[in-house]
Amino acid sequence: MPACIIAGIAARLLAHEQSLLSHATELAAREQLEGVAEQAALAVETVQDELLRSLENMSTAGVEKNLQTLERSNPLVRNVFSINADGRVLLPDDALPLTGEQSGFLLRYKALFSDSIAWETRVTDDAEQVVRPSASRRLLSVMKRAKEYDVIGPAASTVGGWIPWYWENRLGMLGWVQLSADGVRHGVELEMVTLLAELLPVLPDGLPANRRMALIDGAGRTVHQTGGLSPAEDIEPALRVPVGSALPHWEVVLYTPNGTFGRTGSGYALLSGMLVVVLFVSLFGSGILLLREAHRNRREAQQKTTFVSNVSHELKTPLTTIRMYADLLAEGRVSEPEKSKRYLETIGSESRRLTRLVNNVLDFSRLEQNSKKYNRCSFDLCEILEETIQLQRLRIQAVGMELTTAWPDIPVPVVSDPDAIRQVLINLIDNAVKYAASGKALHVGMVRTGNDYSISVADCGAGIAPRHHARIFERFYRVDDSLTAESQGCGLGLSIARRMMEDLGGSLSLLPVKGGGACFTVLIPGECNEKNSDS
Ligand code: ADP
Repeated sequence: MPACIIAGIAARLLAHEQSLLSHATELAAREQLEGVAEQAALAVETVQDELLRSLENMSTAGVEKNLQTLERSNPLVRNVFSINADGRVLLPDDALPLTGEQSGFLLRYKALFSDSIAWETRVTDDAEQVVRPSASRRLLSVMKRAKEYDVIGPAASTVGGWIPWYWENRLGMLGWVQLSADGVRHGVELEMVTLLAELLPVLPDGLPANRRMALIDGAGRTVHQTGGLSPAEDIEPALRVPVGSALPHWEVVLYTPNGTFGRTGSGYALLSGMLVVVLFVSLFGSGILLLREAHRNRREAQQKTTFVSNVSHELKTPLTTIRMYADLLAEGRVSEPEKSKRYLETIGSESRRLTRLVNNVLDFSRLEQNSKKYNRCSFDLCEILEETIQLQRLRIQAVGMELTTAWPDIPVPVVSDPDAIRQVLINLIDNAVKYAASGKALHVGMVRTGNDYSISVADCGAGIAPRHHARIFERFYRVDDSLTAESQGCGLGLSIARRMMEDLGGSLSLLPVKGGGACFTVLIPGECNEKNSDS
């Protein structure tokens, strides 16, 4: 649950960060677009100012001839005209044969030439009224013009301006001046193709591959574009900024994938989803690990408590027997020599059991603290086997088990710790006596396997279910069945035996046996392998 909450918060934070980032990106893109729109407007204004100044500087004598010269010499001029106060066109003179271009021009502007109001609304004595640029652009424009005036001198106060004119969905521009009081207006039609060439450098090169910037005319046609985003990916422009009155209805637009800023939806969702899943899995995983660790600690604490009570019980039982028989003998209450002998034997076997138990507990504590010392020396393995079996034979027979043995007649020298090997064997025989007496048979054998020697202790008892095979070698582990419940023990014998054999470079394992019983195998490294284990 906490992992879910943290993962949810992380997802929300990621989404918030993403929206902040895309907002910042959008602001930066808008600023860039506004800059481009201002530059476009400024380029148009500059052209217009220059042409207007050419008109203003024309002498009134022979003005029509001068206009025709301007048309021929300036590629920004498409047509020239003169029109009197009544709206009669003086130039081009329709009394003379007109070219196709001139006829077209007159047709395009017919409505404007007959409409005196459209002209008057634009009349001022300052050419700046034609466009309404933003404050910064206007300042630039005025500064530029002022600089030029310094060189050529200020123009006389004239009436004139620029008229944007849409004809068949295409923008045209007419610049005009009234040079004298006779009301005759002289002017030029701007060559839009040449003007557009002036506008091309305005759009920036080097846009990122996932962006495209375009200049769009009033009819929505793309006039020019830059950037790597292919037109097929377009849906709607992500941003639009109008150029302003210098180019009415024209816009600078920016295209982005999906018309959004920042990461695309699916990419972002995938990344943030993955991050959230990773966070969730790591939190959930650590939670499970902590739970498992807590569970393990609790189990170990329980095992230790059980171990203490089992050890106390195991110590108490032989001590009680020993004390009881010793008291009887000491008080002289046993008169029959046969009985005394039996009591003395019991005291002996119980004290040996006590010794075995104390040895195991001491070994366990030394192994836990890594302070167990081994006395390695060369000895005859057969001799150790013989000795141990002789000492255990009576116990084995006492529970009704038939003991068989098999090992070579010749000495088998090994380098190891004879006491440790003896204790491992006693633990295994002890278990067979405790848990497998019903099988009535115990076999202890030894064979050479390659360079090593393998001792087997096999019984014919109830055996150990395969699911317990790995766990019986864990400390404190006892199989939870009626057989184990009947016998005393604290779950240390096998874990100590395996640990000691591994420390000595060998091993202890339980082999599967067909037809029941348990067969433990102790592997002791032979001479070739002794050096490897000699640590
Ligand atoms: P303990 O004998 O003190 O319980 P061990 O570590 O010696 O501890 O043995 C662990 C468990 O393995 C025993 O509790 C018993 O259930 C099982 N076990 C060991 N040897 C045999 C065997 N020969 N036959 C059946 N079960 C055995």
